Amino acid sequence: MSEGKDKKDIRNVVTTGPPVAGLVSPSRENLIEPKTKEKEEKFGYDRCTHCGYCRHVCKVYNTSWSETDYAGGRNRIIKALDRKDIKFDNEEIIPSVFRCMLCGNCKVVCPVGIDTLEVFQNFRKTVVKKGAMPKKLIGLRKSILDNNNPFLEQHTDRFNWCEGSEEGKLAYERAKEELAKIDNTLAAGDIEARKQKIHKVGYFVGCTSSYRNKELVNATSSVLGKLGIEFVVFPEERCCGSVLFRTGLEDDALELVKHNYNMIRESGVSEVVFSCSGCFSTFTLEYTKFAGGNLGFDLLHLTQYALKIVKEKNLKIRYTKRTKEDPLLITYHDPCHLGRYCGVYEEPRELLRMIEGIKLFEMKHNRDMSWCCGAGGGVKALYGDIAGEIGRDRINETRTCMVRIREDRLKEALETNAEALVSSCVFCKNNLFQVANEDNSLIKVIDISQLLDDCEFYQ
Ligand code: SF4
Ligand code: SF4
Repeated sequence: MSEGKDKKDIRNVVTTGPPVAGLVSPSRENLIEPKTKEKEEKFGYDRCTHCGYCRHVCKVYNTSWSETDYAGGRNRIIKALDRKDIKFDNEEIIPSVFRCMLCGNCKVVCPVGIDTLEVFQNFRKTVVKKGAMPKKLIGLRKSILDNNNPFLEQHTDRFNWCEGSEEGKLAYERAKEELAKIDNTLAAGDIEARKQKIHKVGYFVGCTSSYRNKELVNATSSVLGKLGIEFVVFPEERCCGSVLFRTGLEDDALELVKHNYNMIRESGVSEVVFSCSGCFSTFTLEYTKFAGGNLGFDLLHLTQYALKIVKEKNLKIRYTKRTKEDPLLITYHDPCHLGRYCGVYEEPRELLRMIEGIKLFEMKHNRDMSWCCGAGGGVKALYGDIAGEIGRDRINETRTCMVRIREDRLKEALETNAEALVSSCVFCKNNLFQVANEDNSLIKVIDISQLLDDCEFYQ
């Protein structure tokens, strides 16, 4: 066993179990059931016993070793602020609030069932309302409000990717035609009548795929075409609001929700397909909540939709670059937003297992115990590429954390001996691809849409 391996094992042992046992024991109020759902969502931190079980799974803590970085430590800060034991200092508070991927692994293991995601997003809302915002979040917010995307890109360029995609271009033209066709004599809001006239399937692309990952949106459009689906895109699509929700800017996010929700309702589609897990989870959680529990259209991630169509049409799938005898060995990375946020674990695996010429291996941490790729919770957006611009050590440290986390995930994929690491989220793909590239790794990092685009579907 190498020295490095020894160190890793010791680290795992040291962080297992309650590190503060005996110092903080559970009090009666920690253990009683919350009185209302609202109380649970907003004040769940009150029930934290600081048992430390969530330390072991927190990749940020296991990189930074900072007590303020794991869920129990952050809950302690929130409690202390509530009790006014510590003063609210904008500069001090920012790292402990934002150095969290919102990956949700702590929520899975918490023995008292605290919805840490809800608690930490609420904490971010409170903190941002008090003016404590990372510098880059101010710019991100402004770009989304001004341009409907976080990349300072022109809104009018959102569908430029269609130029490189035959299916995308058709989908855009269909959408424009349908919009023009909507009969003015139809009563405004007569959605049922509109449904008779239009295509049933819409593809919500998302900002990152539209502006930064055209290969992914082209692949998704091509796969939908191969499945025989005449889909539309939404020419008036704006940012889904995920980054704003995750970073505590809920009021701004809700403006985008209203726009996109009304746009889709008025288009009359009955199914919306997503290739970005972030957009998919934002629609599944925040949009559905906004619509009172019923959106009036179904939401499907590409992995779910492709599986559904393959089953309905009784199709077979063959990976054209390899054979049954010499399959491509792959491992699947569960994106937090598809897995822990929305519970979609099995459909992607079922789809991958159906492909002739592919063999799937699991990483040790999979499904609800999957490691985050390192890009979640707005961390990549806020700290990913600006370490040089920001002098403060803690924030540089955040970037170091993120790099380490994605390296760990890549190492785990390599341990499976897979040739390709397949994910189903543009953020995971980008973050893991970047580190594979920097490390000259032999493992290929691809999105599932790209893998499917190299397949043929037949009866
Ligand atoms: S959040 Fe849950 S698992 Fe983490 S320290 Fe608190 S009670 Fe324990
Ligand atoms: S959500 Fe993830 S990164 Fe944040 S405290 Fe929990 S385990 Fe750590």
